[in-house]
Amino acid sequence: MTEKAIQSLAGTEDRLPPQWTLWHRLHRAARNQFELHGYGELSTPIIEDARLFIKGTGEDTEIVEKQMYSISSSEGEEANNTDERITLRPEGTPPAVRAYLEADLHKKQKFQKFWYAGPMFRRERPQKGRLRQFHQIGVEAIGGSSPLVDAETILLADAIYKEAGLSSCAINVNSIGCPECRPKYRQILKDELAGRADELCPDCEKRLDRNVLRILDCKEKDCREVVDDLPPIPGLICDECTTHYQILKDALSAQSIAYVEDPLLVRGLDYYTRTVYEIKHKALGARDTICGGGRYDGLVSQLGGPETPCVGFAMGVEATLIAMEAESDKSVSQPNGIDVYVVCFDDSARAKCFEQVEALRSEGLSADMDYEERSSKAQMRMADKTNADFCLLIGELELEKNEVTIKDMKKGEQWTADWDAAGEEISSVIKA
Ligand SMILES: [Zn+2]
Ligand SMILES: [Zn+2]
Repeated sequence: MTEKAIQSLAGTEDRLPPQWTLWHRLHRAARNQFELHGYGELSTPIIEDARLFIKGTGEDTEIVEKQMYSISSSEGEEANNTDERITLRPEGTPPAVRAYLEADLHKKQKFQKFWYAGPMFRRERPQKGRLRQFHQIGVEAIGGSSPLVDAETILLADAIYKEAGLSSCAINVNSIGCPECRPKYRQILKDELAGRADELCPDCEKRLDRNVLRILDCKEKDCREVVDDLPPIPGLICDECTTHYQILKDALSAQSIAYVEDPLLVRGLDYYTRTVYEIKHKALGARDTICGGGRYDGLVSQLGGPETPCVGFAMGVEATLIAMEAESDKSVSQPNGIDVYVVCFDDSARAKCFEQVEALRSEGLSADMDYEERSSKAQMRMADKTNADFCLLIGELELEKNEVTIKDMKKGEQWTADWDAAGEEISSVIKA
């Protein structure tokens, strides 16, 4: 038996040349909207001190409990006897806050808005739209407590999706209260759930003590039935939180943006306060969130900084691309053709053809030729296949006269031009 070729790891993906069209459309839309909304680009390392996520993302979250890829930061013997670990970042928010504090940005100007894009890593069960190496585009508005900032981030995500060509996204919002009111309503939920603990799934039974809120977004059918009988969180939060939530909702309504209040929306992360939101798309099936965000007023102080209110979101790029594929007509994924394909009619002319290809490229035209010594007929077929707008036909006769024959592939017209004027001629037809 021959040895099996080494394959990519489960939950990782290659992205081949034809698969970039929608990817770039999304990133272009994001960049454009970040500029319009005044967000500055931030890049942080892919590897971080594991404690950043244990403290920041939260020890009790699924991400930290089960999904982090970590290695020891020391070598050899020492490696087994240390708590210092390096982690492949599972999310972008704690690194953004760390960078903000490390550069002392909070001392210069408290309120600042950032965006980032890049790969994240989680040891998840791979499925549609969920990868172990996936990509996020995210924003963090650090230093602002106004609910209008919450509204801005939601409208920003919506604007990016609209510009990227998505029209059937659903925005869900909720408020999960603050450190003042959350312990109180958490106790109410605990009391309500205590009598029905035996109806919950094993995971949720454990959550009852440690993190009762996460029972609310458990996907198990039995848990959902129990949860349906609970009083909704927005009715249990304090007056300040209620007002904050109302201003956010009014700001969204004023923009005529369609959103749904989802009283069971809590998000899986510990650091959220008040506003939480998700943007969903039906093309994804059961796990249909393509963007998640919310307010995290406690995170900066938890990571050693001053009390600093923040709000942000992260879009799942791969999940969003599934939605974009479902909505886009198939023609957009067709790569654009090149400008010129140079067809060589005489083998001795190949080196001259190559010079012409390079000359065209240096004039800003995309150009290519055959490198496989194929017949002129096969080269013409390649020109068709590459969707070239023009062909340059070069044979003995052309070389003798120091000319090229230009063929407009769309109109079928053909004419000759001076060897050195080929690029100029084609450019003038393209511009006409
Ligand atoms: Zn509150
Ligand atoms: Zn459950």
